[in-house]
Amino acid sequence: MNNKELKTMEDKIEKLYNVNEMFVSIQGEGSMMGIMCTFIRLFGCNLSCEYCDTKKSLWRAGYESQYKTMNVKAIVEQVTDAGLVYVTITGGEPLLWDLDPLLTVLCQNPHMLVGIETNGTQSIQQLLPFAPQIALSISPKVPRESMEIDELSLQEGGFQSISLKIPYPYTQDISAQSFSSYPATWRSLHLIQRPGEATEMPLTELLSLPPMWRVGIQLHKMLHLK
Ligand code: SF4
Repeated sequence: MNNKELKTMEDKIEKLYNVNEMFVSIQGEGSMMGIMCTFIRLFGCNLSCEYCDTKKSLWRAGYESQYKTMNVKAIVEQVTDAGLVYVTITGGEPLLWDLDPLLTVLCQNPHMLVGIETNGTQSIQQLLPFAPQIALSISPKVPRESMEIDELSLQEGGFQSISLKIPYPYTQDISAQSFSSYPATWRSLHLIQRPGEATEMPLTELLSLPPMWRVGIQLHKMLHLK
């Protein structure tokens, strides 16, 4: 590493993020379900979904917002201490932020797999240099035609995996049918689990979809984990 590269890396290590929380749990959703994971929940989202279960990571009035500012060094130290090689950056909406410094340092470990959980409203271009180490998880909150994700980049970007999780019951004109040809490696009707309420199993809906769609659950909630 020459002096210029060294300075660039030092700058990246000092980059600050507003972190709502970090914790270790199992990944409860998507294609990586059941794997132990270190979660980095970044503060802030551009949406305010009625069923959101992470309102403390939002900045809307009326929610009790919580975060602390951490640099990349402190975040990565915590990831290293956890001893896992699977980390998920979630939110809120993590793609609102410049993730390059954090991803650069995390992906220095060639065995590290980084999950990114996004609502589909932001571009994924900043992820492309790290794609082989990224398990992308997309849970659309706007119709397909309004999403900012470039589908060609999804197709050709070389991501480790792409999970598509369509919230069910449907809201805001989003249906699985409209995403049936979406370039994902794993597709699910993702049951919105509200406390104390049963969600109707979407069997009829599943039968109307192309093969290999599945029901997605939130395993961590069933196991009473974070
Ligand atoms: S996009 Fe996700 S984090 Fe943001 S408000 Fe909706 S459910 Fe919550």
